[in-house]
Amino acid sequence: MLPQKIYSSFTSRSAGDSLSEQILALLDQQKKTWPQLAKGYEALELIRVREVQCDGYSVRLQLNPKRIVSSGAKVDAKSISERKCFLCIDNLPEGQKGILYQNQFLVLCNPAPIFSQHYTISDVNHIPQEIEKFLGIFFSLAKDFTGFTVFYNGPKCGASAPDHMHFQACPSGAIPVERDVEEVRRRSSIGKVGAVSGFMVRDYGRRVLVLESADGGELESYILNLLRSMKKVLATNEEPMLNILCSFHQNTWRVIIFPRRKHRPDVYFREGDAQVLISPAAVDIGGLVITPIEKDFQNVDAKMIQNIFEEVSINKGVLEKIIGGM
Ligand SMILES: [Zn+2]
Repeated sequence: MLPQKIYSSFTSRSAGDSLSEQILALLDQQKKTWPQLAKGYEALELIRVREVQCDGYSVRLQLNPKRIVSSGAKVDAKSISERKCFLCIDNLPEGQKGILYQNQFLVLCNPAPIFSQHYTISDVNHIPQEIEKFLGIFFSLAKDFTGFTVFYNGPKCGASAPDHMHFQACPSGAIPVERDVEEVRRRSSIGKVGAVSGFMVRDYGRRVLVLESADGGELESYILNLLRSMKKVLATNEEPMLNILCSFHQNTWRVIIFPRRKHRPDVYFREGDAQVLISPAAVDIGGLVITPIEKDFQNVDAKMIQNIFEEVSINKGVLEKIIGGM
């Protein structure tokens, strides 16, 4: 590991500053010493936002030209194998530093931010994106990132580095779904297993499964069981397509899962003016839809959003079968 890339370290036994204090200090330091990041945050001040009222819910569109890097990213196996991995420590740009978390992950500032504080948390090793083995550390990150939500994009539904295990973090509540799931009228219970309560979100135009528990171990077992059932119903050995948000409040974890059937909608692949550059990952399917192109920001309407959400979400009957099979 390159010691000059380490800004500070955090382990559960760390004395001194909490992780939240460390990440804010890192962001301050990086804005001053890493010009690309400073430019990214300057650009964030110029972004435009527009609310779109859909059937039963609203989404926020964000015009963010810098996100073309991610929305337009080629994520096929060939392109990935030919590019230099931007999350590997040896390849980090001059000036970029991170916080070493539990000697396993590096907390980095995202140079194309969507949020006023946007972090990427990447494994110190170049290993593929796969949630199964990382649920434990996912939950500890959510707990240590006080006031933040940590999220995960599956290798085939939103991760722009599917070959390098990573999470991201943003301020809690910045993604609309986080508030929407708190409305009791939207909750359709799927029951309680041990210390884990689950519900689906109704009339939301996309499939969302929410799990809450104060017991990280039981939560992990529940999700592993869910993944097993998904693989069985979908007849695959690969990780099922999903986006996951996790936060920790009042001694309870909340996990919001979007099971997917598709990464990019058909409109993404249209030619010329007919193309709509929306590439849904956790943030977008969570209701903050990023459009890097001005034309899309102007033209996208409720019907377009509804169609995209429906097209990329797993079918309701399939999700019911998955839950029934647990
Ligand atoms: Zn890598």
